[in-house]
Amino acid sequence: MAFISLFEVGKTYGTASSPTMAVTRVDLNIEDGEVVALTGPSGSGKSTLLNIVGLITSPTTGSVIVEGVDRTHADREQLRILRSQFIGFVHQRFHLVGHLTAAQNVMMALRFRSMPRAHRDEAVHMALDEVGLTRRRSHRPGELSGGEQQRVAIARALVTNPRLVIADEPTGNLDSVSGAMVLDLLTNVSRRSAVVIATHDPEVTKIADRTLRMVDGVLDMQRA
Ligand code: ADP
Repeated sequence: MAFISLFEVGKTYGTASSPTMAVTRVDLNIEDGEVVALTGPSGSGKSTLLNIVGLITSPTTGSVIVEGVDRTHADREQLRILRSQFIGFVHQRFHLVGHLTAAQNVMMALRFRSMPRAHRDEAVHMALDEVGLTRRRSHRPGELSGGEQQRVAIARALVTNPRLVIADEPTGNLDSVSGAMVLDLLTNVSRRSAVVIATHDPEVTKIADRTLRMVDGVLDMQRA
């Protein structure tokens, strides 16, 4: 059974008189452990689709099934709980909290978990260790390079041990060396989580099990 399935999913923004069809009739299964690259021109609907798969946005039409349960009409609180249980996000612009240290940013992902303090600290330590930033744990984002900030964001995504990591152009703001490091880390993450990555970067499609292309909100499936 797929972890997340979308059936005939559509998303329309705007008003009835001038709608924008960001995503149109998308069928998609995300299986445990697979790496999916999502390509396509800017404005083709990639971020919207990631936000639907990541349970941030509800579709206008169609269904979203998570672990066999229809979550299409889940309310915001139910979606928040599912997200914090199952999903980690990595954004192009990192989305770290500027006044918090690297360790505190990673800890944020665990704030809804009832875990003893010592277990939280241990999980944060292991996540920062995995991305090679143990020695930067007390630095704030402004004191870190772009590549380091993205590695903190990856630590924050993986500290909850999610079933699915969603990355929206994770290398888009990085130089090629930092981008390669981020891809290595996402490859490691994919040994235990599914990973879906929206990207323009041909290096990303090389690590993917399959590559999907979006054009004008429509998904065009092709084997990588
Ligand atoms: P991509 O990630 O491929 O650049 P997006 O999903 O961001 O594509 O956008 C797809 C289309 O939906 C674009 O036409 C965009 O302008 C529109 N869109 C995206 N988000 C919103 C929003 N919150 N409100 C209105 N229109 C939006």
